Amino acid sequence: MPKLKALNISVNADLVVFDKDGTLIDFHTLWGPRVERAIDATCASLGWNQSLTNKLTTALGYDPQTAQVVSQGPLATAPISELEIVVATILFQHQMSWEHAKYLASEHFGPVMSALPQPTEINPLGHVHTAIARLKSSGVQVAIATSDDRAPTEAALRELNLTQTVDLILCADDPGTPSKPDPSVLHYISQQLAVGIDRTVMVGDTVSDLEMARQAGVALTVGITGGADKTAELESCADALLSSVIGLVPA
Ligand SMILES: [Mg+2]
Repeated sequence: MPKLKALNISVNADLVVFDKDGTLIDFHTLWGPRVERAIDATCASLGWNQSLTNKLTTALGYDPQTAQVVSQGPLATAPISELEIVVATILFQHQMSWEHAKYLASEHFGPVMSALPQPTEINPLGHVHTAIARLKSSGVQVAIATSDDRAPTEAALRELNLTQTVDLILCADDPGTPSKPDPSVLHYISQQLAVGIDRTVMVGDTVSDLEMARQAGVALTVGITGGADKTAELESCADALLSSVIGLVPA
């Protein structure tokens, strides 16, 4: 019966569910430059307007001065479909009809955000492949639950050489499935892999991931620091805080 350990806590576990961005790969390398390009593309389509650029960055929860996302903001946790609604709302406030605002958001903002990641955008957080391969050889199943879409998620996993290693991937645009942060995401994954939720571990870099996991009733919540949310905010909902998934090991 597999047993896993993070810091000084060990639990019986048959399944580990990982978030992707901020957990397996660096959040800021991927989403900081990308959201700046997506905002630029949107504003360029309207003629440059610095005040609109500023309003979009603020509304999306991004600080271009520090190149950091705002903890627990839209960019930190929401799927791209919700980010497009945020963009359309700001465009509507710039004297544009709602239909035209939604059209511009889906035409100029969405495609930049959902483009397949380039290898330079994928910066693994530590020895991710080693960590996951070690969990798998101890008899634990591994799943990914992400708010990103399936095509870019599969591209990132190919880049990390994890395509053959991961048992199940659940993405924001998978039809007919629950989406994060609905706790039924974890019930769905554990049922698909025939594992009890009380023998499931969740690893993520956001309050939203870890609160979802607590509500679902998992055996252990592991927070990864340095991602989209601040460490101080993760503390209350993480059983253990690690700087990389390499710290979660067979006991
Ligand atoms: Mg994340």
